[in-house]
Amino acid sequence: MKFSTLPIFFDVYILATFSLTAVNVGTFPLGESDRIVTMFARERGLHRAVAKGARKPGTKLSGKSEPLNINRMLLAKGRSLDIITQCESVETFGSLRKDLQRLSYALYYAELTQAFGQGLSEDAMRYFDRLSLSIGLMAESPREPAFLCLEFEFALLEMLGLRPELDMCVACREPLHEQNLSSFNHDLGGFLCRPCYQLMRRRASQSGESRQEPDSGHDGSMAVAESQALFDGKIVDLKRRPVVEGIEPGHENERDTQLALGNISRRREAIEGERANVFVTPVVWKQLILARTSSELLNNGLTADALLDNEHNQGKSLHSARRVMQGYIEYKAGRRFKALDLLANLPS
Ligand SMILES: [Zn+2]
Repeated sequence: MKFSTLPIFFDVYILATFSLTAVNVGTFPLGESDRIVTMFARERGLHRAVAKGARKPGTKLSGKSEPLNINRMLLAKGRSLDIITQCESVETFGSLRKDLQRLSYALYYAELTQAFGQGLSEDAMRYFDRLSLSIGLMAESPREPAFLCLEFEFALLEMLGLRPELDMCVACREPLHEQNLSSFNHDLGGFLCRPCYQLMRRRASQSGESRQEPDSGHDGSMAVAESQALFDGKIVDLKRRPVVEGIEPGHENERDTQLALGNISRRREAIEGERANVFVTPVVWKQLILARTSSELLNNGLTADALLDNEHNQGKSLHSARRVMQGYIEYKAGRRFKALDLLANLPS
């Protein structure tokens, strides 16, 4: 790697070098022939560096700087961006590039990493290992790509502290079962049982009419008061919702933050109504539980093949389950992810 464009007497002499092992999660062009690579490094999480000359065909860095490749690198600390000075390929996942569906899923992992990587730097090693394992599985495993993706989504959400609640109602904490299962609520990060969902609806429609009215003395007010208590008290779980409309929990009085979050949550529910709720059938719910279990086993180095015997019978519910989880992730990220759009148009 040449430094011909740098003031060599100064920078190279005083600048420290350091090494990283990282998976590339995105690139964009810089100048005429360089490329800025966004990577997730095992040693420090999300990081950006310049790959000089990477956009000239045939140069060493042009292939190595492609998304999803894992490299071991030496970098020179730069004034604003570090510069890759040596790069050795660790893994290129060649088989991924031959399968558009699997490639799309893996690029979705990369997109997720760009979106959420900032919150994972303390857990960088664990996330890096899981991400590279998951890309590897997407490349090599004979299992259904949508299921592999769901496993990865669960792992990511767990590390972000956004683990969705699948076992009990997020409002009343009653255990969920096929008969009381209602909807997945993006805002609350889990399932509501049917009675709680109905309470919430009633409260949302009433809050539209008379928001300041104290909840007493009218028909149905007990239910409303009860649901108010549910949504004031137990729901606001700061760990589950790191960013809500610009408020970052933990930087001020926690009680104030909780109140603010509660108010935002109520206002948003009143405004958005049903938008944050997705109705889920028991089959889809079970599919989610299966993927979560499988994801947890994978954290311990085990695979859940025994669980997946009837996987091929569940194609439709599997894809519905994935849509629920992707919707939740997009809701939390406040943005859409594009890598999977392509799949919608692929012949199945
Ligand atoms: Zn409930």
